[in-house]
Amino acid sequence: MNHILNLQTTAVHGGARKDDVFGAINEPIYMTSNYRIPTDGTPVDWSGIHSNIYCRNRNPNQMVLQDKLCALTGAQDCAVFASGVAALAAVFTTFLNSGDHAIVSEVCYSATNLLFREYLPKKYGIEVTLLDTTDTDAVRAAVRPNTKLIHVETPGNPTTGISDLDAIAAIAQASGALLSVDATFAGPVSIFPLRHGAALEIHSMTKYINGHGDSLGGCVLGNTDLIDRLKELAMVNYGGILSPFNAWLVARGLVTAPLRMKQHSAVALAVAQYLETCPGVRFVWYPGLESHPQHDRAARLMNGQYSGMISFDIKGDEKAHQKFLDSLHLVTHAVSLGDVESLIVYYDKNSDKLPHYSAIYQEGFFRFSVGLEDAEDVIADLKQAMKACGVL
Ligand code: PLP
Repeated sequence: MNHILNLQTTAVHGGARKDDVFGAINEPIYMTSNYRIPTDGTPVDWSGIHSNIYCRNRNPNQMVLQDKLCALTGAQDCAVFASGVAALAAVFTTFLNSGDHAIVSEVCYSATNLLFREYLPKKYGIEVTLLDTTDTDAVRAAVRPNTKLIHVETPGNPTTGISDLDAIAAIAQASGALLSVDATFAGPVSIFPLRHGAALEIHSMTKYINGHGDSLGGCVLGNTDLIDRLKELAMVNYGGILSPFNAWLVARGLVTAPLRMKQHSAVALAVAQYLETCPGVRFVWYPGLESHPQHDRAARLMNGQYSGMISFDIKGDEKAHQKFLDSLHLVTHAVSLGDVESLIVYYDKNSDKLPHYSAIYQEGFFRFSVGLEDAEDVIADLKQAMKACGVL
């Protein structure tokens, strides 16, 4: 068939189904730690990443999930891990050696920040420049002869800054570095980093890919050569693999990712637009708002869907922030994001996790993961909480 399938159809049908002997339409869960190895002379790949030997090397549930992710993103290959952090650490430790230099988004998930600020330089002698990657000139100026990796998080966690992937990919290519992009905040159906020149696309599957808040997972997408290197080192020898059961859960969630992302994006846009009208709101950052500093870039990169992540703050002291959180009924104060239900987390101004280069960070603020509820209900909850804490 010459017809190219759309995203939601690909999410349903994409990836090879590994039919079982009973003809089950849904993938069975292969709860086995090892496999019978051929004794009839059939060649065996003892690395185990291309033969069934042992569950740490590969298993059918991982493979089905990997295939579906490749179908959605157009990647040649994919490796899945036990968590987003396991996927990130796999990339950093596979592709960086001591003496190498990495350029990294300063606004990024806290574990990425800590790995690059502390562990990779101190334990492994890796040179690191953390900077604002939404500033393309700063990225260009930071390149050194030994730069081997440019790692960009976009939209950046927690403030949703958008980096110019095409321009940074050109910088990476000219300097012989790999560009890896953590696109967790957008999921694999809103931003397509590989189409914009990235060598590696990374997601915490815990978020929009699984989407139901019941499993952790991480994935890395790229060409077969890079992904084989990741599997050989990080899956087989570091061992942070995704269990068959969690791979099955995440693959089930992935089926509805395009559908969910439409609703997340529509509700978040309505919520962000509402927040912008509130005099008691100090700032709102949402890539879909024209007021977002990189809105034009987001419009170019985000496939018309700006995801469910908003950062905003109310005008009030610490007590007012606490009261606001305490007054929410529908929205839950919790970490993580990309779930069916709305989650909000407060970044206290004293949090050591915040990069303090931006004025926004001088005070605390909220990171809001808008769920799949109806916009009207989410807005009503925010409104009554703002009234309760006295900013409306
Ligand atoms: N990358 C980003 C952008 C994240 O927001 C997170 C977690 O919040 C991670 C990676 C880590 O993912 P996990 O919790 O699955 O290890």
